Amino acid sequence: MNAGIAPAFTDAIIVAGQGQALDDLFAVLTETGLPTERVADLIEAEGQIEERGQALLVLFAASPTDEALRMVTRLRKGLNSATLPIVVLMAKGREELMVRALEVGADDCLETPAYPPLTLARIRALMGRLREMAEGVDQRQRFDLVVRGAGDGIWDWRLTDDSVYFSPRWRELLGYQPEDRFSAMDDWLALVHPEESEMVKREMRNHLEGISLAFQVECRLRHKSQSYRWFLIRGTSQRDPYGHATRMAGSLTDISERKLTDPMTGLPNRIVLYDRINQAIIKTRRRKNSNYGIILLQIDRYETMREAYGQSFCDNVQRVVAQRIVGILRMTDTLTIMSDTTMCILVDVMREDTDLVRVAQRVRGAAEEPVSLGEESVMLTLSIGMAQGSTHHIGADELIKDATAALNKARQSGAGHEAVFDPDMQRRARDRLRIEADLHQALRREELRVFWQPIVELGRNRLAGFEALLRWEHPTRGLISPLEFIPVAEESGLIVPIGKFVLREALHQARAWHEAGAPRDLFVSVNVSSRQLDSPDLVEAVTAALSDHPVPVGCLHIEITESAVMRDVGRSQDVLKQLKALGCHMALDDFGTGHSSLSLLQRLPLDYVKIDRSFIAAMSGEFSGESMVGAIIQIAKILRLTVIAEGIEAEADELRLRALGCQFGQGYRYGKPLPAPQWQDVLFANRRLGVAQ
Ligand code: C2E
Ligand code: MG
Ligand code: MG
Repeated sequence: MNAGIAPAFTDAIIVAGQGQALDDLFAVLTETGLPTERVADLIEAEGQIEERGQALLVLFAASPTDEALRMVTRLRKGLNSATLPIVVLMAKGREELMVRALEVGADDCLETPAYPPLTLARIRALMGRLREMAEGVDQRQRFDLVVRGAGDGIWDWRLTDDSVYFSPRWRELLGYQPEDRFSAMDDWLALVHPEESEMVKREMRNHLEGISLAFQVECRLRHKSQSYRWFLIRGTSQRDPYGHATRMAGSLTDISERKLTDPMTGLPNRIVLYDRINQAIIKTRRRKNSNYGIILLQIDRYETMREAYGQSFCDNVQRVVAQRIVGILRMTDTLTIMSDTTMCILVDVMREDTDLVRVAQRVRGAAEEPVSLGEESVMLTLSIGMAQGSTHHIGADELIKDATAALNKARQSGAGHEAVFDPDMQRRARDRLRIEADLHQALRREELRVFWQPIVELGRNRLAGFEALLRWEHPTRGLISPLEFIPVAEESGLIVPIGKFVLREALHQARAWHEAGAPRDLFVSVNVSSRQLDSPDLVEAVTAALSDHPVPVGCLHIEITESAVMRDVGRSQDVLKQLKALGCHMALDDFGTGHSSLSLLQRLPLDYVKIDRSFIAAMSGEFSGESMVGAIIQIAKILRLTVIAEGIEAEADELRLRALGCQFGQGYRYGKPLPAPQWQDVLFANRRLGVAQ
């Protein structure tokens, strides 16, 4: 966008009035190549000055009462021409007239006839000053604008070389640093939202061509974070004597907040939500009791729906759902749109704590009806997170954070669930973060230990192997249970290096035991989590560990939980096959706690099934517990799987399990998980396993 090179306005000289002296001067100036205009009429000259704002004006005065001097007086009073350079031409020797001219505001006086080089030199000197002054005016205008709108960004575009000055605030509004390169108008125009791009360019053209007096548009600009925000852009231009715009400057105002409605649904947007929550917080503080809360609603499987039907279909679905919800809300509740998948209801007046849940249930009832649009019909579910306002909430952000935590918890339970935020949830989240930070160090500081719990062959009452169970010797918190840190390690991905460590430790220990003369078929069992199963290098890691610590075939057992296998049965099948090919035996851990089917068990290359200890515990209670364990053992036999019962604590458990035909057992009855040296006697000095440990 460049209007072409035009002479700067400071180069214009207007010679106004009638008479030979002015004609002669005009001839000299034109001959020298200075851009000069000859205007015969003083009124016309005044009009031109008004319009241009800047030029050098030359007038002729014959007497102190001359109309030309009255014009100088008028111009000097006018705001626009306060800095206009004016030269008054007069006959030689008229000192009194000269004094008068200077008094009313002329910048200089020239005598006629005169020595032309002197005339030229004086005019040039005045023009130089004029240029300096013009720059000063520019800076002042820029400064005025800045002062006027402290929150506004300022821009100043010199069309003669297409360079743009952007104030620090301008950059800040769009998220850019001073060092980010922004120097041409096109850099800026590239940020305009495609939907407004044409309009902005058109308005700018109209202004530059003089069709509109001022440039003013509302449009979205892309923030550095890639999100769009709404802005008001205003500007005006300065023109040269020929009417060409040479410079355009103005302001940039963030008006996102003014745009309060969601364009798709016409419902209030998050800005309104924040505002209303803040009002509710203030109200509560005054009354000292909390009676408001928010419900975050998220449409489940939105991405899948978008892939299948496209964005505009999804927009319409959201509109329909929003309408349904609005239909069941009370006057005091506000539904707002947070994003294309998420909505939020502010329940402003609550009589009881259960009000939130009740509203959520009504919303679910209304929203989860099939949505039919044209030919298509979709059934959708909502994930719902709720948080009740309380006096500890300082701002809307916090309440929304709480509701988001609840929403995340609901989503963890699968689609169509809901959860209410409780402050404990937040504490647990903080604890987890702390554990994660410490866990990073744990590996390096060698704080992780592998403990061993015996697995016995029930029929022959002999030690068959050990399960490797991880412990964390935390420098300040003491021994930490894997139940506390394994989930964190899973989430952060640390489980992969930790898993490798356990594997190596286990094989190293197995080799040591075998070398010391342990029974040939003594095995070690290592737990592998779902994240490890997903990681592409599990097979590689096992191969490497086995080649570094060779053990007899079948010595390494790998335990995988039912839920880990279920995540991707096809892939699990693949990985398990490869592990078996390496000589590992595979065990399905915590059997009964997931939802695996018989057909699934059949498809996986398994050797052992470990019945979860909750079933063993249930055996001593109701009768059905025992029959359930009995049934599992029978099914396992049909599938040619060996059964290991977990959590055997009492002799009675052992007796029942034996009677049911369970081959292996593990539990406190035979020993708790302990460091390897503590099993030395059992392995090599014929000490019997038993309750004594
Ligand atoms: P798991 O694999 O099912 O391990 C058995 C858990 O039951 C162990 O808990 C064990 O101490 C406990 N247990 C054994 N016998 C009895 C008993 O008679 N009564 C009772 N009440 N509990 C008994 P632990 O060591 O706390 O481990 C918990 C879970 O952490 C393990 O469950 C396993 O899923 C996981 N885990 C432990 N070590 C590792 C590891 O190295 N890698 C991975 N991925 N997970 C591990
Ligand atoms: Mg296990
Ligand atoms: Mg288990």
